[in-house]
Amino acid sequence: MEGSFGDTETAETEIDARFVSEAFKSDINAFLDRALTPDLQRAGRETTGLKSAPKASEEWRARVYQQGWLAPSWPRAFGGTGWTPAQRLYFDSQCADRDAPILMSSGVRTIGPLIIEAGSCEQKARYLPAILTGEHEWCQGFSEPHAGSDLTALSLRADLEGDQFVLNGSKIWTSFAQYATHMFLLGRVVPGSTRGDGLVFLLLEMKTPGVTVQPIPFIDGDAETNQVFFDNVRVPIDSRIGDIGDGWATAKQLMAIARSNNTTVGVLRRAFRMALRGARDAGGLDLPMQTQFADLEMQIDSFESVAARHLSDPGGMGISTPSSVLKLLATELHQAISALALEANPFGKLAQRKYLATRAATIYSGTSETHRNILAKAIGCPRE
Ligand SMILES: Cc1cc2nc3c(=O)[nH]c(=O)nc-3n(C[C@H](O)[C@H](O)[C@H](O)COP(=O)(O)OP(=O)(O)OC[C@H]3O[C@@H](n4cnc5c(N)ncnc54)[C@H](O)[C@@H]3O)c2cc1C
Repeated sequence: MEGSFGDTETAETEIDARFVSEAFKSDINAFLDRALTPDLQRAGRETTGLKSAPKASEEWRARVYQQGWLAPSWPRAFGGTGWTPAQRLYFDSQCADRDAPILMSSGVRTIGPLIIEAGSCEQKARYLPAILTGEHEWCQGFSEPHAGSDLTALSLRADLEGDQFVLNGSKIWTSFAQYATHMFLLGRVVPGSTRGDGLVFLLLEMKTPGVTVQPIPFIDGDAETNQVFFDNVRVPIDSRIGDIGDGWATAKQLMAIARSNNTTVGVLRRAFRMALRGARDAGGLDLPMQTQFADLEMQIDSFESVAARHLSDPGGMGISTPSSVLKLLATELHQAISALALEANPFGKLAQRKYLATRAATIYSGTSETHRNILAKAIGCPRE
């Protein structure tokens, strides 16, 4: 593979990517001292899923927004911070170390950056400010009952009638649809088309007549996912990103964004801290357990280096699908941390819930098998 991790140029890039000034650090820490209340920190510590409890998430989101730091990855012109990759990683890690609630906003993380890259001027003006203020919450409508790993098997119809698309069908496993005001989705617009041909990428208001959300409870007690039904739902023709029939290209663009920041270093550090706290509550760590914890901490540090490298030079991994590398590494590490947490504290309620919740990490946003297939193809392995 070109640009392997060991060469001199890479080492320098990583050191640069980790540089953060003392002034920046003290700005961040002063804000966290001021803004993080004990209640918010408790909510952060007790988070086992992808988002902290709604009330704490909303309170924390509003405080970070008022500070102007809600969307560190966005360009400054659209309300981002203009921070370097190292500054973004530092903020993420400090939030984790200080037990801030987890803000897993699909708007900030995925559809906002896609709108910045590929949306019309009108879409940028309508959606980006509302994502930052929290007025709009987004969910992702890709998977269907018969289209998961094989996403291009999707069949939700998006028939073009005059200046509207008419949607019929259903989406499944839609995370947080019950709280969302908007959904981005893929529909089949060209009747009789197959696979990635004939699709359209649409932006939809969840309150549109004909949309019904039905929650699917999780084994750990949370209800994060839903099935969403569409019964003659009408969407204006200008609610699409990309050309009619070319929605798959837009979906791939979106997935590359979503998989790169699916599980951040901060999420891993939070899980690690939760595991250590649980182990101490359960009576401490013997030597073999200490070694396992140390090994996982080194893996988190290594992942941080890979993430830093990707943020500073997205093409620098020398592979055409770096988002698959990041998604695979982060989610498998997340599972390993929660498995060790459970081993260290088998009767801890949080350890149990966290373990169950992270089982899904290697399924959502593409399964590990799917990403291994993508990577194998990218480096030219034969299909079999
Ligand atoms: C918690 C959670 C949240 C989710 N949130 C969303 C969401 O917000 N929006 C959304 O659109 N979707 C969401 N999903 C759906 C998720 O993207 C799909 O579950 C995932 O893509 C797998 O699809 P599937 O469930 O149909 O499993 P399948 O595709 O049926 O796969 C079943 C098993 O077969 C394996 N497999 C399939 N094909 C191959 C192959 N070619 N080679 C090797 N192995 C293969 C898979 O890896 C898996 O282990 C979510 C899922 C979960 C669990």
